[in-house]
Amino acid sequence: CGIVGYVGPQNALDVVLEGLRRLEYRGYDSAGVAVRVGGPDGGELAAAKKAGKLANLEKVLADQPLPESTIGIGHTRWATHGGPTDRNAHPHLSADGRVAVIHNGIIENFAALRAECEAAGVEFRSDTDTEVVAHLLAAVYPELPEGPGRLAEALRAVSRRLEGAFTLVVAHADEPDTLVASRRNSPLVVGVGDGEYFLGSDVAAFIAHTREARELGQDQVVEIDRTRGLSVTDFDGAPAEPVAYTVDWDA
Ligand code: GLU
Repeated sequence: CGIVGYVGPQNALDVVLEGLRRLEYRGYDSAGVAVRVGGPDGGELAAAKKAGKLANLEKVLADQPLPESTIGIGHTRWATHGGPTDRNAHPHLSADGRVAVIHNGIIENFAALRAECEAAGVEFRSDTDTEVVAHLLAAVYPELPEGPGRLAEALRAVSRRLEGAFTLVVAHADEPDTLVASRRNSPLVVGVGDGEYFLGSDVAAFIAHTREARELGQDQVVEIDRTRGLSVTDFDGAPAEPVAYTVDWDA
């Protein structure tokens, strides 16, 4: 339902929670966050998620704080597949905990993809259509060459296999500076700040921080990277130019 992503010098959790608060007007039944912690090597993801209002998640975070981080993602869920429970809340992580995914929309062919993952030995931990994306990414990523653009390439490969409507945002424990996102039949906006980037299901997610926005087109993948900046491609990797605009309404 609501999506926020952040890469930059501020504490990511604060930025993400603020964005989720501003997306509350959309309605939701659960909320969750993940941050990437650690140095360039040996990073890990830390996540928290909870059914109910954002206040429930904030209570969990008050009891078990997440470490400071410069990369974070956050989600408010409107359940379509699987009840509104803690375990079905996003983010969904791969079995090894190195990939975290948040998703708006519906992945129509999730059952076939889930069966494929289960045949390969994956044990699912939710009833959502979303979780399959984390497992597919975890399978593809190690097969790709190390270096810039690796996570975006993994998301392109997985996005090509998905049917339905999705805005996906993905964090990886091995990627200290990068978030990637993808969209089909579901909105995705990038906010460009001073040395920082935001992702949102709408501009309300980052309006407190920047008014410089880039809107993604249909079937595109965006990478936001602290040093390399913003780059957009279609699902086959051909470069694309997002539509730039300035948000002119008052927050
Ligand atoms: N279909 C996904 C789920 O049920 C995402 C729902 C949403 O857009 O919040 O978990």
